[in-house]
Amino acid sequence: MAEEADGGVSSRAERKALEKAKILQRESEREVFRLVGRVLKKPEAERSEEEAAVLQLHRDTVEELCRREVRRNLLKRKQEEVFDDADELKSKVRELAAAVKQAKHFVVYTGAGISTAASIPDYRGPNGVWTQLQKGRTVSSSDLSKAEPTFTHMCIRTLYTEMLVKHVVSQNCDGLHLRSGLPRHALSELHGNMFIEVCTSCSPVREYVRLFDVTERTSLHRHGTDRKCIHCGGELKDTIVHFGERGTLEQPLNWNGATEAAKNADVILCLGSSLKVLKKYACLWCMNRPASKRPKLYIVNLQWTPKDDLAVLKINGKCDDIMSLLMEELNVQVPAYDRVKDPIFSLATPLRPEEVDSYTRDLISPPAGQEDCSGDPGDQAEATAVQGGWFGRGYGKGRKKKKAA
Ligand SMILES: [Zn+2]
Repeated sequence: MAEEADGGVSSRAERKALEKAKILQRESEREVFRLVGRVLKKPEAERSEEEAAVLQLHRDTVEELCRREVRRNLLKRKQEEVFDDADELKSKVRELAAAVKQAKHFVVYTGAGISTAASIPDYRGPNGVWTQLQKGRTVSSSDLSKAEPTFTHMCIRTLYTEMLVKHVVSQNCDGLHLRSGLPRHALSELHGNMFIEVCTSCSPVREYVRLFDVTERTSLHRHGTDRKCIHCGGELKDTIVHFGERGTLEQPLNWNGATEAAKNADVILCLGSSLKVLKKYACLWCMNRPASKRPKLYIVNLQWTPKDDLAVLKINGKCDDIMSLLMEELNVQVPAYDRVKDPIFSLATPLRPEEVDSYTRDLISPPAGQEDCSGDPGDQAEATAVQGGWFGRGYGKGRKKKKAA
């Protein structure tokens, strides 16, 4: 018994001593890191003999700190916006034009960068929504419904009518591809369309196109829009796919169209997307094939993308600028967006009388002479900050994670 008690005491003391030693070691390691870090910051010529000796003595620490510096710089470089100069752009676009002309199945992938000219801010650029929200600023929703298809949207649509583009896959929810006149079957809106609500109780799923952002009350896992299906009375839902959700709706997501397009593509042009989300959809990149059998990738983006190393060509420029040069090379005329021809007005379903006041977001005003079929609630939404809805999507989730850490 006495022996056991003794043993207990001594092992406890040993444990304590061990812990103390560990703490002291960690502290001395930290001290070494601080010391080495300070010396490394000095230009080599200004280091004293003593300091040089410190670096000699702690070579492992020096190496670790250098590795960290490299990682930091890489991260910084990935976030920077890069612009090719005019000559470089011209020659790169010439190369792209040749690929477009030769392609048998040319497919376009688009991200927020193609809508920035429509005053829709992108997500992760220096002025992107994500960046603004991270800084605690609010983002106004009033611009979103006022946005119109950009020059790039019109180019893509024209390339489709010229039978050069076969399919468009977009991660944008702003509905601008549809409004440019691109037919539904040629379009996959992988993350939904802010103007479309659906009744999933009806079979097949019944779709209601509206002239306003239907997502103002929706958020992650909460898709009810507070309006009802005319046919069955079921609750209508938005079509937005948030971070962490899996989109299963046939339309407007059109995964079948996207998968088929990727399978047949020989050239893919990625426009204005960081590709951070798109890269996760394996079927879009044919990664199961050997590299030589995959579609050739052309990327237009100002920032680094995770697919840059796999691309045949990376063009660092703004989408509208690149598309303007490309159309010139292809000798294709691009009509300006014309609201009179915007298909959303003929696609839109009028609201029921009791639902005329069921939204506060701005209405896309119909062209002069066309009937207003949705009832305008006025300018109430002028400067509403975005809370829920597609625009702040995934943000809350990201922040919660950060807080927990
Ligand atoms: Zn229904």
